[in-house]
Amino acid sequence: MSKIICSAAIRGAHKIVKRAEEKLHETIEKKGKDCPVEFPNTAYYLPIIYSMTGIGVKTLGDCLPILEMAKGMLPPIPEEKHWLPYLGHALDAGMATLFAEEVIEGCKYLIGPHPVEGIWLGAADDIIMRERGIEFVDGTAPGFAAIVGAAPDADTAVKIARELQEKNLYVFMSAETHGVSFAEQLAEKGVQMGWKTRLVPFGKDITATVYSLGFANRAAMSFGAVKPGDFRRNLLYNKNRIFAFAMALGEVDDEKYANAAGAINYGFPCIADTDIPAILPTGVCTYEHVVPSVPHDKIVDKAIEVRGLKVTIHKLDIPVSYGPAFEGERIRKEEMFVELGGPGAPGFEFVVMRESSEIEDGKITVVGPDLEGFKEGESIPVGIYVEVAGRKMQKDFEPILERQIHRFIGEAQGIFHMGQRDQIRHRISKEGFKAGLRLKHIGTIIHAKFHEDFGAIVDKVQVTIYNTKASVEQHLGETHRAFAERDERILGMTDDSVPLFYSCSLCQSFAPTHVCVISPERSGLCGSVSWLDGKASYEITPTGPNQPIEKGHLIDETLGQWEGVNKFLIDSSSRKVEKISMYSMITDPTTSCGCFECISVLLPMCNGIMTVHRDFTEMTPCGMKFSTLAGSIGGGQQTPGFVGHSKLYIGSRKFISADGGLSRLVWMPKELKEEMGHLIEKRAKELGLEDFLNKIADETVAQTEEEVLAYMQQVNHPALVLAPLI
Ligand code: SF4
Ligand code: ZN
Repeated sequence: MSKIICSAAIRGAHKIVKRAEEKLHETIEKKGKDCPVEFPNTAYYLPIIYSMTGIGVKTLGDCLPILEMAKGMLPPIPEEKHWLPYLGHALDAGMATLFAEEVIEGCKYLIGPHPVEGIWLGAADDIIMRERGIEFVDGTAPGFAAIVGAAPDADTAVKIARELQEKNLYVFMSAETHGVSFAEQLAEKGVQMGWKTRLVPFGKDITATVYSLGFANRAAMSFGAVKPGDFRRNLLYNKNRIFAFAMALGEVDDEKYANAAGAINYGFPCIADTDIPAILPTGVCTYEHVVPSVPHDKIVDKAIEVRGLKVTIHKLDIPVSYGPAFEGERIRKEEMFVELGGPGAPGFEFVVMRESSEIEDGKITVVGPDLEGFKEGESIPVGIYVEVAGRKMQKDFEPILERQIHRFIGEAQGIFHMGQRDQIRHRISKEGFKAGLRLKHIGTIIHAKFHEDFGAIVDKVQVTIYNTKASVEQHLGETHRAFAERDERILGMTDDSVPLFYSCSLCQSFAPTHVCVISPERSGLCGSVSWLDGKASYEITPTGPNQPIEKGHLIDETLGQWEGVNKFLIDSSSRKVEKISMYSMITDPTTSCGCFECISVLLPMCNGIMTVHRDFTEMTPCGMKFSTLAGSIGGGQQTPGFVGHSKLYIGSRKFISADGGLSRLVWMPKELKEEMGHLIEKRAKELGLEDFLNKIADETVAQTEEEVLAYMQQVNHPALVLAPLI
């Protein structure tokens, strides 16, 4: 921590504790030691003191030991030239400040100046706290901004307040700068204040800042079931659950520093518009502690970013209905106003990651004439260019976000989404156009939904929609390069290159012992969860169904067995599964839930295996149809000789590699062969297998195991000369 802010905070704490002593003595002189002291209508006494120490202050006399305690917490004021190496001193000073301020405010209720006066509301009672606090818990309100001081002028104050309101945040106001307070600035402009508008003026004195923090302490006790006196849990609850930050506007004096130090205890960072020393290293707060010199037009964004706040936008500002019900809506040619992309009209949709400073959240630009500029029935060029930034965003998540555009746009009534990447063919209906639906609304939807569903990784979303041929074509090169790079990267990723696999336990609802272990070279067996998906899903929902698995010590490289993976399985399968091989269907094969896209089955006579996919309903050479096979291997068991897997796994270098790999594949349905043909050929070439795809039998040439063997001999299938499989 910077020495200057440390000294200032400690100096400020000394001043406030001294002030509290004086105020308390004055109050005791007038009212006597036994006079009750309290904030109105609350069961939480002086709430910060109560929640931190467990002591319920009831009388003025009770305040005396509290102030002694506060004094004991005060570190000596460091000389300017002394450098304090750690935050601890300032944090203690901050907490002492808050105790002292509660005593001061409590005394004010007895001898004045009364905290409730004019625009000032003073402490919130328990009814307000329950009504409003629950919004912090259920997410209606993500948290609060504690504004200390005043904006340079009333217009700036209004702008900042509106911006915070739009983000659903409560705005708690206290203190002043050169005699003016933020709340007075809002009042001057006729802004309606009070708990209903979420603009809450607590008090003009710096000591009124305790009402903000005390609110947080009470929320933790009331909604988080944190016991009074359990200060650790209370502070942790606030750090993790209450998204609050202090915003220091105007000059920051010692007392304000002391309050900022108090707030840092809760993990609430302080964002300032003046040049106060920054405290950047992260530690107590989620990110930075103090961020200085933020311009007023950026201060709300910055605060939200620093606190790690996730803003959700509840109502979509578009002229048509929106919801999953509309995803299935088809727009036929006669109903269509225009087509985006399609014949003669280049198009793309593309998500790319940026630095936070490079983009502006919510900025939506349409480069071109929007829909008014087009005639009914036209195919129009459209490039949907989405830039996102976020602390937890990674390059690898670009395609995952991009894939979601399909659902997000499709859920709007009047838009039909087809295709992806540079092969799009979306439609806008005549009715939608008449209702006012325009291209810019695609931006509105993407912005809102990315925040809503991917708030954990996305902090900022900026959308540009190109709809002139020239502007779309200008970006095609960039998008093509990015698509190619992504493909390369994903194909280039190997199991060896990563320390972590991901689990998927989604199917445990019906197959309680099943866990998919997902590696770069082996996706989940339903085919819908790749390693990257697992990683992204874990970032988005850390307690969700996809958990990282440390591979740990390698037990058997060929089989693909790791200590970490086995341990994870034991724990997550209720000890039903003790070990699995990622690359073998014979020795400890992976379990199968029931959602596998394909099943591979040993064909002993052929010294090979057959692979059948779900859509193939006829008899297979192993003597069982897919449905029978599925019934006998599903449910979370390990069945040597059988394994369920995704289609993509057939094209993996690790496809049953412990059992001989791709060369073992002797039969598959024609349809599957066609679908996966390009990948199979690619791998076969790597393995030096000539004309391999044609050597795999299908139902047109072989329906029984004998017929498969005969075909193999006819084409000289490589499995014939492999070591015996069993
Ligand atoms: Fe998850 Fe798919 Fe495996 Fe089910 S089958 S556990 S959804 S990866
Ligand atoms: Zn499943």
